[in-house]
Amino acid sequence: MDTCPRCDSTGKSTDKTADCKPCNGTGTISDDLALCYRCKGDGKSKETTADCTGCAGKGTIPSSANKCSNCDGNGNSSGTTADCNACTGKGYK
Ligand SMILES: [Zn+2]
Ligand SMILES: [Zn+2]
Ligand SMILES: [Zn+2]
Repeated sequence: MDTCPRCDSTGKSTDKTADCKPCNGTGTISDDLALCYRCKGDGKSKETTADCTGCAGKGTIPSSANKCSNCDGNGNSSGTTADCNACTGKGYK
């Protein structure tokens, strides 16, 4: 278990009173989870209010998943803002 970098292990979201998504209010991220490369734990897409396609709004992804080598884990094709076609925007395989 690692301290959640998103909420500084308070377990609470910094902008709301809701539980922090990445750690589910526990303040720690379990070893088998990592913060989503794409939204950095927000669970939301930067361009829209829709759920992040990388983590389906959870803010975390399985850390055992391999980072996509085509987009280096950011989910975007290099040089464009289009979803990486190798990982369909998820940032991992
Ligand atoms: Zn947290
Ligand atoms: Zn995400
Ligand atoms: Zn990719």
